[in-house]
Amino acid sequence: MEKYTGKTVFKGVAVGPVTLFNKADDQIKRYKVEDPDAEISRFEKGIEDTNEQLAALYDKAVAEVGEASAAIFEVHQMMLEDEDYTDAIKSVITTESVNAEYAVAVTGDNFAEMFASMDDEYMKARAADIKDVSNRLVRVLSGASDSTTDSDKPSIIIADDLSPSETVQMDKSKILAFVTVHGSTNSHTAILARMMNIPALVSVDINLNTLENGCTAIVNGITGELIINPDEELIAKAQEEIDAINEKALLLQQMKGQETKTKSGREIKLYANIGSVSDLAYVLENDAAGIGLFRSEFLYLGREDFPTEDEQFQAYKQVLQTMAEKKIIIRTLDIGADKQVDYFNLGQEDNPALGYRAIRICLTQTEIFKTQLRALLRAAVYGNMAIMYPMITSTWEIEKIYEIVEEVKKELEAEGIPFKVPEQGIMIETPAAVVISDLLAPMVDFFSIGTNDLTQYTLAIDRQNQKLDKFYNAHHEAILRMIKTVCDNAHKAGIWAGICGELGADTELTEEFVKMGVDELSVSPSMILPIRKIIRDME
Ligand code: PEP
Ligand code: MG
Repeated sequence: MEKYTGKTVFKGVAVGPVTLFNKADDQIKRYKVEDPDAEISRFEKGIEDTNEQLAALYDKAVAEVGEASAAIFEVHQMMLEDEDYTDAIKSVITTESVNAEYAVAVTGDNFAEMFASMDDEYMKARAADIKDVSNRLVRVLSGASDSTTDSDKPSIIIADDLSPSETVQMDKSKILAFVTVHGSTNSHTAILARMMNIPALVSVDINLNTLENGCTAIVNGITGELIINPDEELIAKAQEEIDAINEKALLLQQMKGQETKTKSGREIKLYANIGSVSDLAYVLENDAAGIGLFRSEFLYLGREDFPTEDEQFQAYKQVLQTMAEKKIIIRTLDIGADKQVDYFNLGQEDNPALGYRAIRICLTQTEIFKTQLRALLRAAVYGNMAIMYPMITSTWEIEKIYEIVEEVKKELEAEGIPFKVPEQGIMIETPAAVVISDLLAPMVDFFSIGTNDLTQYTLAIDRQNQKLDKFYNAHHEAILRMIKTVCDNAHKAGIWAGICGELGADTELTEEFVKMGVDELSVSPSMILPIRKIIRDME
């Protein structure tokens, strides 16, 4: 049994098998081995295990898709037995005294290249198979997961680090908890874990090479502990904690269908944050009054090319229709900084958080922005939508946005396509926007304070930097005063102000926010009912 501690991202408890998250093969490390013969034995054992895996896959595939389609796994088994292939790998291990994973990856690449250059179409197509089987063998050797065979069992994902795009691509129903060696509690990956209601720890100092795929672990998001191979007693204790958490959640169910009003009758809009259409289930389950932040950039992550106008239109329409007449605030593309997408070709920047991101991209590459606006205006016909613009620092940006919206409107009119220009608000997430919030308020329909970035920019702390977590004080007096200023300036102009950053879900501050005049809180779905309870208990 080994115990590790990390920083809590979401306070739940989970027990289950571990899946080591497998990064792309460019992560394969080359290292020297003292005893090449021992490495060859390890390689041969790897071949045996991979063969077993393929045989199991073959049986599964025969049952699910028939013999003809399953035959590919037999071909892969044959490749593993090919002596040219295995001898080449052994030779790399012996002549270079290197690890088996590296030897397999290099040999796999060489063989794939050789097949790809052949004239025969059938042999050409084998290039992909040899890559595939080599990748599988590398995964087995490095103890990483085989996503195909493990996909049925929910498990605890342990990774070196996870990018937001890797996280969005995962099948959430198969994840019991997340644990990463790196990562900060304010990153978007952390936000996603909170959204999914999944226990999660970051900054856990564990050597992934010592971990066995499939071993049992406990993740305790309350104490910040990860326990590998726990004894029966600890498993039973963790199960008790899980039951207690479930019981508490059951009690909170009484808050469903209730209004979010203080005892004196002040109503607070209690909305949910989402990243994709699939998050709607959590929103409905937790009875949010609407969506206060739909991070639309997640539609752009984890894919090879821009989502088309129609793909976006369908996604927005689906959210609006599913939520019926409830308010849906869709934030326009906030790409850049930690949310990187290759096809945007944003290039390297010394300070990405202070760089080319969000509205700055939209106001520069206006075609990208216009495609999104067209999709939004078209979808607005189907429900109660509002658009929200991120990273605003100046009044001219809003003027420019409105000019572009006007162009889009004219184009849609000319094409005879039905559309609606919905309410438009902005995120207040830069200190500049706070200071000029009196000037910005008359120009827009609402403010939503993005405390994640506002804290980062006000305290000069990179929210991605795990070393700075202890300095990242979102309760800092400067932030609280800023929230008050924004609310006051919003109310003077007759508009509402809310909070959609993570601080909005901080139950220690709920009462203070209500007293300050915050009109809306948009939080991860799992926090809706606890916050409703606090507000309903307030005088
Ligand atoms: C914020 O900055 O507080 C916010 C809500 O936006 P994001 O976390 O997506 O940057
Ligand atoms: Mg932000």
